[in-house]
Amino acid sequence: MGRTVVVLGGGISGLAASYHLSRAPCPPKVVLVEGSERLGGWIRSVRGPGDAIFELGPRGIRPAGALGARTLLLVSELGLDSEVLPVRGDHPAAQNRFLYVGGALHALPSGLRGLFRPSPPFSKPLFWAGLKELTTPRGKDPDETVHSFAQRRLGPEVASLAMDSLCRGVFAGNSRELSIRSCFPSLFQAEQTHRSVLLGLLLGAGRGPQLDSALIRRARAERWSQWSLRGGLETLPQALNTHLTSRGVRVLRGQPVCGLSLQAEGRWKVSLGDSSLEADHVVSAVPASVLSRLLPAQAAPLARALSAIPAVSVAVVNLQYRGARLPVQGFGHLVPSSEDPGVLGIVYDSVAFPEQDGSPPGLRVTVMLGGSWLQTLEARGSVLPQELFRQQAQHAAATQLGLKEPPSHCLVHLHKNCIPQYTLGHWQKLEAATQFLASQRLPLTLAGASYEGVAVNDCIESGRQAAARVLGSEPNG
Ligand SMILES: Cc1cc2nc3c(=O)[nH]c(=O)nc-3n(C[C@H](O)[C@H](O)[C@H](O)COP(=O)(O)OP(=O)(O)OC[C@H]3O[C@@H](n4cnc5c(N)ncnc54)[C@H](O)[C@@H]3O)c2cc1C
Repeated sequence: MGRTVVVLGGGISGLAASYHLSRAPCPPKVVLVEGSERLGGWIRSVRGPGDAIFELGPRGIRPAGALGARTLLLVSELGLDSEVLPVRGDHPAAQNRFLYVGGALHALPSGLRGLFRPSPPFSKPLFWAGLKELTTPRGKDPDETVHSFAQRRLGPEVASLAMDSLCRGVFAGNSRELSIRSCFPSLFQAEQTHRSVLLGLLLGAGRGPQLDSALIRRARAERWSQWSLRGGLETLPQALNTHLTSRGVRVLRGQPVCGLSLQAEGRWKVSLGDSSLEADHVVSAVPASVLSRLLPAQAAPLARALSAIPAVSVAVVNLQYRGARLPVQGFGHLVPSSEDPGVLGIVYDSVAFPEQDGSPPGLRVTVMLGGSWLQTLEARGSVLPQELFRQQAQHAAATQLGLKEPPSHCLVHLHKNCIPQYTLGHWQKLEAATQFLASQRLPLTLAGASYEGVAVNDCIESGRQAAARVLGSEPNG
């Protein structure tokens, strides 16, 4: 009898793991178990008036690097090439990003020449920060906060404006708590290997296996900065589901896993309320904190390591305006914590993907709320009415973008614990988990945003690597 692999969680990581398992030359029996009625996890696209698309989670995927190329390969394998909406390198959404500081929008410098020009809100041209970076010695600690790393290498302004905002934009997190080693491994590695981040990024660029496909070649030739799908990014999990079902994968929805126990023969019993499944191997693609609560007593040290990986909430407010114009054209802007503790940034969805504006078209922007403002409200245990987020978002759109008229359409979603936080020492938690799994020879493999990257590309890669480990072939880079 063939092996049975049960994959926990039908977000993009669990779907990717199931996909790669099902495509093995001699595939095991695969059962994907999702707790909710919907697949895709945080990837969710909804249609609004005139068929406009509103992304409640991710809205753009980066094609750069080996992982970006792998995702494009997956898109082609699923037959989605004609659905791809690219943002080409010469487009304003690829070239312009802004910071909102001191009550005004400031374009971040682009290109080499930009480094030599004065670029407010920074008091000096960024060339000086680059010079400091090139001459700063290598750090000695095994990990450091993003803020401390950036302050040491690039100076206090870049740390408290640029890196603070970047951490809010990518992780909805605090640069004074997040780990450089785990959140930005390429920067950490560049310093370790080449003593300088700039040198490391320059010398290290272009390495690694070069995947090839027509879509990848197009993305490189047109220098895409990101892409989406015509019907929204949720098309990707939906296509994965169709593919999995066609390959005989059993996809269970609305079946939250409520416990895992080890049988005498070393197999898992996966409890689903009033029924259960037996598995030779489990791939967990649910958040680390969820898995920590499912594990049996024998795995208490693993549960402890996993429960120490926190996550933060984000309120996503999608707004649409009729007959309105933005004051600038770009991907969007970020807001450092010193400017506003609650507004993380605003994405100008219509600039990057006007094809999704609906008919008649309306200007779409998304305000991301979170940070210490939301954490404090959550810690107080206050009731968090949607109206609060709507007002806060409309106020931000009015003051930061001049969108003073009421929106014609508004969606408010509070995503609780949606982004894992790789805080200082995250690597030690991963090491503890890996060591425990190896020493106990537990037939359990971890995948998902909780571990080594929160971007959609990272999650897909974590699923691919998990599948390769289960199948006994090491992932090849
Ligand atoms: C607001 C927001 C904006 C983002 N923007 C971007 C972006 O623009 N670009 C980008 O690359 N990335 C972005 N990300 C990050 C990226 O979308 C996520 O990190 C990624 O989708 C996480 O996928 P996952 O499968 O690891 O986890 P999840 O999506 O959390 O999936 C886990 C699944 O497990 C299920 N589950 C939980 N408990 C159980 C249980 N007991 N039994 C069974 N199933 C269970 C859940 O229902 C869920 O479906 C964004 C994230 C958010 C929240």
